[in-house]
Amino acid sequence: MIVFLEPPAQYDHPYAGRVVEQRLSRLQIMVTCHGPAESCSWVGNGVCYIALPQGENDLRLLAYIRQHEIGHCNGWPSHHPNARRIEYDPDAKRAGPANGRLKLELE
Ligand SMILES: [Zn+2]
Repeated sequence: MIVFLEPPAQYDHPYAGRVVEQRLSRLQIMVTCHGPAESCSWVGNGVCYIALPQGENDLRLLAYIRQHEIGHCNGWPSHHPNARRIEYDPDAKRAGPANGRLKLELE
């Protein structure tokens, strides 16, 4: 089970500008995000940049990460005040049609 932090409603809306998404390797994310992280985001020249893990193919998971990071682009502070917790169970997928392997490493 993974617990995600969703942005509070005031930050949980589409970004009013261009969103540029980059899929980076673990090492690139460490460099780009200045430390161990699954993902990060920043705003530059009005553009919301999001770095997502390259090896992650779980679309639901990526959607949650994207929503979280867009919340930051919308001004949600990095210490996650008023976050809404949601629980995500990647194993729930196994009950569905054979969807290939799914392994998450959150170290
Ligand atoms: Zn965050």
